[in-house]
Amino acid sequence: MTAGGYVGRFAPTPSGPLHLGSLLTATASWLDARARNGRWLLRIDDVDAPRQAPDAEAAILRSLRRHGLAWDGPVVRQSGLRSHHRAALRRLGGHVFACRCARRELRGLERYPGTCRNLSLPHAGNAIRVRAEDQPRTFTDRLQGRSPTTAEKGDFIVWRRDDLPAYPLAVVADDHAMGVTHVVRGADLLDNTPRQLHLLSRLGIQAPSYAHIPVLVTASGEKLSKHNGVTALDDQAATLNLAAVLGLLGLDPPAGRTCPARLLEWARPRWRVSRLPRTRTIEGFTALE
Ligand code: GLU
Repeated sequence: MTAGGYVGRFAPTPSGPLHLGSLLTATASWLDARARNGRWLLRIDDVDAPRQAPDAEAAILRSLRRHGLAWDGPVVRQSGLRSHHRAALRRLGGHVFACRCARRELRGLERYPGTCRNLSLPHAGNAIRVRAEDQPRTFTDRLQGRSPTTAEKGDFIVWRRDDLPAYPLAVVADDHAMGVTHVVRGADLLDNTPRQLHLLSRLGIQAPSYAHIPVLVTASGEKLSKHNGVTALDDQAATLNLAAVLGLLGLDPPAGRTCPARLLEWARPRWRVSRLPRTRTIEGFTALE
């Protein structure tokens, strides 16, 4: 889709409206792209229908617009990329196998014990796992540095029993289809990244550059979630929200920037991923209280 240059993206799951935490991720990824004159794409990760909330997508698009976070091109929907997911699964060829183990049978195990590895079960009606050696797979994250060093926990699921792609397969196929070169996302996804790198290497796709930014937590250390109900963004307070988020990103806008576009214009040349703390979480919910 692109011939060189920076391509970033924001990929919310439409399980609810944006909250301050997702605005933080969106703003960081937008600034990272725009500071390099890159493209910034919007993908709605809607392949898992039961996790979706009615009207969430419309609310997300509205909030992004109100906060001045304009995206390039049409909105991409993960559900429109199914052929890419299936093609990626096919390309994994002999590296995958069907698994009929129930979740409860594996509960408490450190790693998948390889139960179905050599059973040649039919794919239909079963989950599909990719073989993964227990090799440490480290990578250098632009913010978090060399991480993580934990070994893979054995063969992992790439296709679910309910015939949907599992997150690591879907995300690598989607990002590749969209020509994404730079991923800026929450550090809650850091631990999944070695799986994605494993798939990328099996698929012969060059890995994007990653920056995993801290996830916003409440004063008691809880991740802000679309489900805890207290944090849906108030679009009427877009300027205030954005100023708070910029503060959390290590940018303190001077008073007087009276609209989101002006704030972003001020922040864009000042953005440095290194201004962020190299932690997985930041306590920021109090910023708007
Ligand atoms: N859709 C995922 C989420 O909302 C993010 C995917 C990604 O950035 O890799 O958590």
